[in-house]
Amino acid sequence: MAANVNPTAASVLKKDDLIVIAGAGGFIAGSLARYFHEQGFTHIRAIDKKPLSEWYQRVPGVECLCMDLQYEDNCRRACENAVEVYNLAADMGGMGFIERFRVECLRSILINTHMIESAYRAGAQRYFFSSSACAYNTDLQKDPDSRALKESDAYPAMAERGYGWEKLISEMFCQEYWAERGLMTFIARFHNVYGPYGTWDGGREKAPAAMCRKVIEAKDKGSKEIVIWGDGSQTRSFMYIEDCVYGIDRIMHFDDLIATPINLGSDYLISINDLVSLAESIGGITLERKYDLDAPKGVGGRNSDNTLIRQVLGWEPSTPLEVGLKKTYQWIEQQYLDRKAGKRTVS
Ligand code: NAD
Repeated sequence: MAANVNPTAASVLKKDDLIVIAGAGGFIAGSLARYFHEQGFTHIRAIDKKPLSEWYQRVPGVECLCMDLQYEDNCRRACENAVEVYNLAADMGGMGFIERFRVECLRSILINTHMIESAYRAGAQRYFFSSSACAYNTDLQKDPDSRALKESDAYPAMAERGYGWEKLISEMFCQEYWAERGLMTFIARFHNVYGPYGTWDGGREKAPAAMCRKVIEAKDKGSKEIVIWGDGSQTRSFMYIEDCVYGIDRIMHFDDLIATPINLGSDYLISINDLVSLAESIGGITLERKYDLDAPKGVGGRNSDNTLIRQVLGWEPSTPLEVGLKKTYQWIEQQYLDRKAGKRTVS
């Protein structure tokens, strides 16, 4: 039989194998549940601490449980009979959240500690952990034109305070559960993910959603201004949600990547100023920029070096930012109008 060169869940699992997804009331894990459902998997268990009424997406036919995964008993229940476990639950948000709430970010270590132990005890075949580019050494990210980060740049360690350190130690759990106990673990370092069903308001939103919302709001209210955090020269790369969920599937089923952190991000670098221009061009408006130099702005520059993912998977996230941002803008605009009309929205 020919070797399966691009293994995915569809080629590795039986359709009724139990897939457990933690954090599924949120953006990425909710989209992952939908992705697996659309692939024809019939036994998906989605878990989040938010009440079901507040989940961003509820996928028909998916078992949805409201449980706080900081507690070991709940993690045991969540992982019962799991064949694969995807742990994306975390207390997190954009720069405004992770710079202000470091304790909350650090406390996600409880989720990760109990989830990996529970996945192991349940006899799960594979365990996925969503790490972050915030695990990288911040000394390498001071300038807007900093070179792209490759996987080895996490050490010597100087991660983002709070959130980044929590990710780094949880990665180490994954590596040691493989080395000592033989649990097959997979670790992706996400670089800014955006798209429909992402947080777009309320303080946890990230730059692409925030810029779209600000443009939509300015148009609606007839305002001529937009406020930008920092001087707008900071650079980032942004990955569209569909690339993210597909990348998770590919990474999780590629055995050469066991216990090996890998970048999952776009390598198209853009400044926040240019991101604003893009959102303005989608909205068909030009606004006067006000720079809030006291607001949280994060590192000077951060990009994903995609050499490893290209080499091992022969694939990398490639949705053009203009395409993904337009879809995101349109979705947020509808959310904005729905909220104005008194309808329920995701954030
Ligand atoms: P999100 O906030 O939309 O989703 C996370 C979900 O986890 C939320 O719905 C939250 O209620 C849930 N959660 C938090 N604490 C919990 C607990 N104790 N028990 C159960 N559920 C709990 O965030 P997201 O953008 O979907 O991020 C998913 C994962 O990806 C996180 O681990 C995050 O750190 C990582 N990540 C995201 C990005 C990004 O750009 N969105 C970048 C890097 C890493």
